Amino acid sequence: MIVDCHFHVDETMLTLDKMMESMEHHHIAKTVLISPMNETMFEVESTFQHNLQRLFRILILHVPTVGLKIYDGLVTDGKLNLYGNAYKVLTEPNNKVVEEAITRFPDRFLGWATVNPLLHESIEEVKRYLEKPGFVGVKAHPFMHQYSIQTLDPVAEMCEKLGKPMIIHLSAEKDSYKYLPENYPDLKLIYAHAGLPFWKNLWKYISNKPNVYVDTSSDYLNPSIVKQTVKALGYEKVLYGCDGPYGMTKFNEYDYAEKKSWIKQLPITDSEKECILGKNFLQLIGGTE
Ligand SMILES: [Zn+2]
Repeated sequence: MIVDCHFHVDETMLTLDKMMESMEHHHIAKTVLISPMNETMFEVESTFQHNLQRLFRILILHVPTVGLKIYDGLVTDGKLNLYGNAYKVLTEPNNKVVEEAITRFPDRFLGWATVNPLLHESIEEVKRYLEKPGFVGVKAHPFMHQYSIQTLDPVAEMCEKLGKPMIIHLSAEKDSYKYLPENYPDLKLIYAHAGLPFWKNLWKYISNKPNVYVDTSSDYLNPSIVKQTVKALGYEKVLYGCDGPYGMTKFNEYDYAEKKSWIKQLPITDSEKECILGKNFLQLIGGTE
């Protein structure tokens, strides 16, 4: 069973009906949805953009001090700045749209309840969402919402107690990937985008941490990074995800084939690929196939 563990709902970019149709076509049984993080963001297909992404990956991998600095500057004053455009970051998570999608298609969608710990009522809100059908855990975004990892203390404590996983998109804060595993050793954690922006150092650090995983989602990555991730961590700690609809250039045209091919072309056995494509995640949330 293929499960995409990381995808946002934004019907201004991709409708749920179109998503269902594409999931069917690509044999994706379930998708775990997240509220939108920013306003509608279509990208332009350009060599310039492609080269910038390449340069960014090279810097993060080989000159991390420079890479982290660039990454840190991508979000300023509540806006995400990409390729000369600025997109408003949504401060208040809209978990309602995830709930509505799960209610419409309960067999196909699960949900992450997004928290912004800077908003006082947000922690209580995610607690309520975790009791609703289909919600598997909590999404936190220290990068977009711009806070220190320690701000997540009450959320991490709650999730550890409830046995619910957290999925986190890290900021460039120094060593922030160590904080939660060290303070909440039983917390199940997924670092989004293979642990961006720390990649190699993070892989080394989490390789012996049994509850800590990474996902393979987003255009921040490419087949080579995914390959290096699996080589560093082993297939058991890696989870397939897309991070759509981000990266789209046109309304309702999401390319599901690409991210799936990154897993398909890995130099591992088919049953190991099946683990990355869904089994690892289902095991992590305590479900069975
Ligand atoms: Zn995402």
